[in-house]
Amino acid sequence: MKKTADVIVVGGGAIGNATAYNLAKNGVDVLVLEADEVVGNGGSSRNGGGVRQSGRDPRELPLAIYGIQHIWPNLKDELGMDVEYHREGNLRLGRTEAHRAILNGLTDRAVECGLDVRMVEGDEAREICPYLSDAVLCASWCATDGHANPMLTTLAFYRAARRLGAVYHSGAKVTEIKKQKGRARQVVTEDGDVYEADVIVLAAGYGSRAIANTVGLEVPMHTQLMEVIVTEGVAPMFWQMLGTADADFYGHQSDHGSFVFGITGGYEDFSTAVRPVSSSIAASSACRVILGYFPILENLKIVRSWAGWIDVTADHVPVFGPVEEVPGLILVCGFSGHGFGICPTAGLLLSELAQGQTPTLPVDAFRYDRFKAPA
Ligand SMILES: Cc1cc2nc3c(=O)[nH]c(=O)nc-3n(C[C@H](O)[C@H](O)[C@H](O)COP(=O)(O)OP(=O)(O)OC[C@H]3O[C@@H](n4cnc5c(N)ncnc54)[C@H](O)[C@@H]3O)c2cc1C
Repeated sequence: MKKTADVIVVGGGAIGNATAYNLAKNGVDVLVLEADEVVGNGGSSRNGGGVRQSGRDPRELPLAIYGIQHIWPNLKDELGMDVEYHREGNLRLGRTEAHRAILNGLTDRAVECGLDVRMVEGDEAREICPYLSDAVLCASWCATDGHANPMLTTLAFYRAARRLGAVYHSGAKVTEIKKQKGRARQVVTEDGDVYEADVIVLAAGYGSRAIANTVGLEVPMHTQLMEVIVTEGVAPMFWQMLGTADADFYGHQSDHGSFVFGITGGYEDFSTAVRPVSSSIAASSACRVILGYFPILENLKIVRSWAGWIDVTADHVPVFGPVEEVPGLILVCGFSGHGFGICPTAGLLLSELAQGQTPTLPVDAFRYDRFKAPA
């Protein structure tokens, strides 16, 4: 069994797989250790598939814009698998003047960062998506946002990484990182196996917090339960991604005709425990909200639901990059519920960092030590 590599990636989610793919593409010897028996069973295959720039923190926006301009459009060909990517816009809907104020603020901030997004009145929103209820008063409209299939994307990165030589060990739950001569060097699993690499990329979602603790690092973050509901399939109606000013649901129609809606489950956990995945609890109340915007969906049956935990940092932006006090370690976690849309860019940047290169985009805003009290 392979025990050494140039780079060890801990965690086989969308971020770990995209990193492994980019490293393998550059001929780097990479080993991925995944706790679960399968890859992608964290948020990465459970998410709502949003690939959007609008509504993002300005620090994350360059990663989202880069991915949408340079990576997502070619991902199907690059990875050899259709990831069902659609770039047909995002409408964030408002039904009240209070919603308009929220959307105006989000839009103004995004425009300041150079994003092509604008406010539209209800009638223009209904021209873009004719199925919206008359109650929609206004919306923000970003024509270059979209969505993709998260399960296929995570799988596509995994398969492409494997094809290019990345080695995966599943059922390998990492419990500890050990330093040698001041550098992160060894990765220890629950079974007592010890792996070694020059660079360790810790991309284990919320699991990263407890592992980072073993080298004296604490990332202020907690988990929140998020849910997804899926309807029966119907003929294609629209391809836009939709959200609301209140963020009480978001969703899209998938290639096979089902509507996929993401909602908040309402639970938060501040312990270091990685919770088992739960089933949906908020579906019925979410349906009432959704029908307020889309009465036409009233008779559609819900055929599936699931839930997953997101890893939320104290400022809702990921930790991402090398850690000065632990050379050899690249920490990446805390995507705070919006990591899927930027996973292709994150994978590229992380692979560059792991190879000691200057990343294509600066990552200083995501430094681990931004949470430290000033000296
Ligand atoms: C319901 C839901 C809806 C969402 N909707 C969206 C959306 O529409 N758009 C968007 O951009 N984002 C969305 N997200 C967030 C997005 O899914 C995540 O930000 C993204 O998948 C994070 O990827 P990751 O690889 O960092 O984490 P994960 O997918 O959680 O992967 C981490 C991996 O590490 C493994 N691991 C954990 N501990 C260990 C250990 N000790 N040793 C080894 N391996 C370990 C896990 O098993 C897992 O496979 C949503 C999330 C959820 C749950």
